[in-house]
Amino acid sequence: MTTLTCRSCGAPLARSFVDLGRTPLANSYVPPHAAGAPDPTFPLHARICDACLLVQVEAVRPPEDIFGEYAYFSSYSSSWVAHAKRFCEDATRRFGLSGSSLVVEVASNDGYLLRHFLAAGVPVLGIEPAANVAEAAKALGIPVEVRFFGREAAADLVATGRAADLVVANNVLAHVPDLNDFVAGLARALKPSGVLSVEFPHLLNLVREVQFDTIYHEHYCYFSLLAVERAFARHGLRVFDVETLPTHGGSLRVLACRADGAPRAEEPGLARVRAMERDAGLDRVEAYAGFQAKVDAVRDALLAFLRRARAEGRKVAAYGAAAKGNTLLNYCGIGTDLVEYVVDLNPHKQGRLLPGSHLPVHAPSRLAETRPDYVLVLPWNIAAEITSSMAHVRGWGGRFVVAVPTTRILD
Ligand SMILES: [Zn+2]
Repeated sequence: MTTLTCRSCGAPLARSFVDLGRTPLANSYVPPHAAGAPDPTFPLHARICDACLLVQVEAVRPPEDIFGEYAYFSSYSSSWVAHAKRFCEDATRRFGLSGSSLVVEVASNDGYLLRHFLAAGVPVLGIEPAANVAEAAKALGIPVEVRFFGREAAADLVATGRAADLVVANNVLAHVPDLNDFVAGLARALKPSGVLSVEFPHLLNLVREVQFDTIYHEHYCYFSLLAVERAFARHGLRVFDVETLPTHGGSLRVLACRADGAPRAEEPGLARVRAMERDAGLDRVEAYAGFQAKVDAVRDALLAFLRRARAEGRKVAAYGAAAKGNTLLNYCGIGTDLVEYVVDLNPHKQGRLLPGSHLPVHAPSRLAETRPDYVLVLPWNIAAEITSSMAHVRGWGGRFVVAVPTTRILD
């Protein structure tokens, strides 16, 4: 056994947060011809650093294996695209962005966000390691560099006169194995007066709402504001504002500037979120104990529901072949004996099997063909969007179910 060390501060990592056993990589969808072979599995064990309180999982595969052909296209979620559009409008106004500014988005995905800046006449540049999703952004007229981001990529931007007025990094901080290299790059890419905007799911909600299914191998870190402020300060970034957002089950949007740049006053949101974290005990390592027992209770309740449904002869299908669904299904040991199949809008996933559970992925039209009694909504964070777009399920008496933070039928 080698001693694990914290990805942020380097201290030894000895304390368990939650151990989810061995599972396949959450986004490694299985082609039908490989259905008979067992999936490779890797330990999925989240630990917390006693020194800087960063919750993290060990990197089991190089990021090139995970993100080279990423199957997630942000624009498939209409609520997420609307969220991005509002951000662009607000940021353009607040930071006075214009035709002479530059907005750089790290992990620009399919252009779901930069397209709104482009439409407003603000120059943009995307950095995206997955060539297949970058192509979708390029088709919208967005310049994209296909590469991983870090110190080196940032130095190249600055050397070519492309330091940014605004750097956006949404839902990528957790995906970064070398956190210090990435954060140093974010600091480096900014003009002295530039602003960094980073969004990530808030650890506070993960703990409170038992969102253990947001833990998977592609998410290396689970951040509190407190842990982010420490990681940013190490690289000369000062947080000056933070907002709570409803996205991804409750996220933070943290705004930071260069500590050596134009001074910016601390906004009241900062004291408010720091206090929320203190009140929840996130500043004390002992407060993280007991999470494993809560996770096991979520698993037991879902299994009890599905076994009862099977005993009563009810048909159960699932909606949403997202990564979080895979953590849930695999930790609970759910296969096609309990849930027949899953549907997903993304054609890149249809026709494949979910890793581990081997649930087949079909188009959403499959639900109307087989009329299941229950539809288990795996991405609970967009349950409202799903139940409204699939409202016809209720027409044959079908009911929607979510499993986190506890198994319940949605009215
Ligand atoms: Zn640490």
